[in-house]
Amino acid sequence: MIKKWLDIIFDHRISLRERMFRLITGISMVALIFILILGRFTANILILAVSITYMYLVMKYSIRKGCINEGATAIVVLLLLLFPIVFFAGGGIYGGVPEWFVLCFIYISITLKGKRMLVFFLLCTVETMVCYYVAYHSPELVLPNTMEQAYFDSVRSVILAGGLTSVLLLFQNHLYEEENKITIQQKKEIEELNQAENHFFSSMSHEIRTPINTIIGLNEMILRGDISDETAENARNIQGASKMLLTLINDILDLSKIKSGKMEIVNVSYETGELFSEIVNMIWIKAREKGLEFRLQVDPSLPSMLCGDEVRIKQVLINLLNNAVKYTKEGSVTFSVRCERLAINRVRVWYCVEDTGQGVKKENIPYIFDAFRRVDEAKNRHIEGTGLGLSIVRQLVELMGGKISVNSVYMNGSTFLVMLDQDIINEKELGTFTLTSRIKVHEGEQYKQSFEAPNAHLLVVDDNEMNLMVVSKLLSDTKIQIDTALNGAECLRLTQYQHYDCILMDHLMPEMDGIECLHAIHSQPGGLCQNVPVIALTANAGSDNQQIYKRKGFSGYLAKPISGALLEAAVLSILPKELVKVSEEASQFEIGKDVLIFEQSKRVSMMVTTDSVCDLPESFRKKFGIHVCPYYIRTEQGRFQDNSELLADEMLSYMAEGKKGFSQAPEVEDYERFFAQRLTEAQNVVHITMAKHVGEGYRNALEAAKSFENVTVVDSGHLSSSLGLSVLYAAYMAENHASSEEISGTVKKLRRYISSAFIINDTNAMCRAGHLSGRVKVLCDALLLHPVIVLRKSRMTVGSMEMGNFNHVIKGYVRKVLRNTGKIDRRILFITYAGMDEKSLKYIQELVHQYCPFERVYLQKASSAIASNCGPSSFGLLFMKKNEAVISFSDMPGLPK
Ligand code: ADP
Repeated sequence: MIKKWLDIIFDHRISLRERMFRLITGISMVALIFILILGRFTANILILAVSITYMYLVMKYSIRKGCINEGATAIVVLLLLLFPIVFFAGGGIYGGVPEWFVLCFIYISITLKGKRMLVFFLLCTVETMVCYYVAYHSPELVLPNTMEQAYFDSVRSVILAGGLTSVLLLFQNHLYEEENKITIQQKKEIEELNQAENHFFSSMSHEIRTPINTIIGLNEMILRGDISDETAENARNIQGASKMLLTLINDILDLSKIKSGKMEIVNVSYETGELFSEIVNMIWIKAREKGLEFRLQVDPSLPSMLCGDEVRIKQVLINLLNNAVKYTKEGSVTFSVRCERLAINRVRVWYCVEDTGQGVKKENIPYIFDAFRRVDEAKNRHIEGTGLGLSIVRQLVELMGGKISVNSVYMNGSTFLVMLDQDIINEKELGTFTLTSRIKVHEGEQYKQSFEAPNAHLLVVDDNEMNLMVVSKLLSDTKIQIDTALNGAECLRLTQYQHYDCILMDHLMPEMDGIECLHAIHSQPGGLCQNVPVIALTANAGSDNQQIYKRKGFSGYLAKPISGALLEAAVLSILPKELVKVSEEASQFEIGKDVLIFEQSKRVSMMVTTDSVCDLPESFRKKFGIHVCPYYIRTEQGRFQDNSELLADEMLSYMAEGKKGFSQAPEVEDYERFFAQRLTEAQNVVHITMAKHVGEGYRNALEAAKSFENVTVVDSGHLSSSLGLSVLYAAYMAENHASSEEISGTVKKLRRYISSAFIINDTNAMCRAGHLSGRVKVLCDALLLHPVIVLRKSRMTVGSMEMGNFNHVIKGYVRKVLRNTGKIDRRILFITYAGMDEKSLKYIQELVHQYCPFERVYLQKASSAIASNCGPSSFGLLFMKKNEAVISFSDMPGLPK
């Protein structure tokens, strides 16, 4: 029986808990038997015999029923009942029982769990203390022991308790060693399994590759032969399927290599131009076959030779580009490469693959890099794929010490950005990289004219006459009408009267340099070329220069000496499509259409955007390139876009008929679309919203911005033209190359310095929009009160009330708002209104002039969304207070009149 019991104890197939329960209960029973054998009192003998039987039965029953916790509890209860009796009957502390209390603690901590263990531990502690306390204060309750008995009991108990505890520890030790052995064994088995798996994968890939090779090779022979269209079609399908199979095998092999830590990164020197040629040559054809535009933008300052794992970089980029083509139905795929010097011989390269395809749902983005995980399965059912590509891509990028990130807007497209640091082998810059130039290099072809544009007008500005002549000659085959200017002043004379489709501008010129001239063209009063793209011509192609040109607002940049093909490609990419006729040979390579030949994307580095409720004059928005995301007006007739679909006056007359209309902030998806569009024009976007507690706009924009890495959303704390004021400020900062953080910091500071106060004639609209309570409305109507609405802490509140008829009230309001003349920044004032007649507006202007004349006063009609909230005959005086925190508007040059 003991052997059987021992077998069970050491059988690791039985749960550890059950084995421990058996062991400790067995030990406790042995202890009791010893007490029984060596005991002195008949009463005790009986109790002990009953207890041992009870313990045995409980242990058996609970093991059979699988309720060890309950069995252990029942035994602990018995021990707790038993020990006080044995304690008092066995001589108290002058006996052997105290040691058994220790055993009880051990029993509880080993067999019980969680709260139950704590409770019994506590009970045992209390019980021990009570026994000791009672024995001390009422010694008569303790059956006395002789000195001899006391010594005998104590030594017996110490030996027994010590022996049994040692058995317990020995067993635990044994268990630990056993488990350790099992773990080591399992680890070994896993390693062996992995090795076998790798061996299987590599031999499988080899075995499958061999027949595929034959299939591909022989298929190629069929394709070369004189075959019918149907056979050719079949052969091409075989070719496609074989290639797909090869890709799949390679992916599985790579994945298993990465998993087993056998994927080695082999850094070699490679030519960047060669690498891109190979990649682009593979992809652009695929893109064209699918009717997609393929764009290439490679930073010319990229060193021509780098040190990196050329094979893996290529693999990563091809994978991303293939996906971009695969998941895009229409639009374009853009591959761009940027670089930044990290140290004298090290460069950080960003590879960006952007598409206008179906995008990835936000909730799926975290999973797309998981192996065998394809997201949006229903939609991708017909697209071939295994869900392995991106998992491999990410692991490869990480192995190369780089980073990969994704920005995607569902239904709008995705951008995958890979960052890798590499050593520079050859400092020489790659220069302007074009697919076509590569093809020509390879094939040794002669240059052929790529397009004609006889109706296009081009201006070349250079202080060197020879340069002017060279550029004119290089472009002569295109039949473009070319004018030349020898300096900035001459250029400005020409742009005053003639519209050009493109301007080529030398940078270094005496008196007015290219950058100054560009700014002068853009802000030339009455000039005809304010929005014309200007390409910088420079003899210095350093990467710093390139940044400067970009920031200064050039649309492109060409390094001298300029080859005819590059010049044509650059001009072609800029000219309006309707003026251009692309020649046949060129269209074979799709110069300029498929391949945007040089790095300068037309994206500005920083763009400030806002909501349509900003109530800024059109001229301001144009001048600063401020785009607005339209609010909506919900009416009984449906939903309309603010201003573009419903004008404020139409809205007010609609409301005058007693019908309801409410403004509604753009939804998260609207903002997502809006941001995605803006990011095609700018690298960074700062979106300034209406006060965050006035509607859902701020929250929705913030949510949408989470899908992008470079969109910052800021709460202006204001609305209407006072929101417009902070937007203007931000746009001005953006023009002066401020960062997103600087702009949002300033907008937040500005909240305190902008005065927003609107006086409301008719409280109906405010009440319906929920901005005024019904009670306040009744009070206003009854007492001819007109609330002045102000914005505090991004909330709309009633600042004060003006009493009397509205015309009378106007005067009081204007006087009150403009009373602190000393504190007002008098540069700009917006009088923003809804449904006011000319007479009233004139009157307001006169009052303003009388109380506090401003340098510029803009009468601004409120957007329909604002008008729907404040109702007819409402207006506000919106201006900035003087402050040192930010620069004054006086520093903003050329505000439109
Ligand atoms: P697959 O073989 O399915 O293309 P990947 O690992 O390459 O596997 O991509 C995983 C999933 O990520 C794809 O199933 C697809 O849903 C999504 N995905 C990858 N690239 C894009 C992209 N450019 N546009 C949209 N979805 C993409």
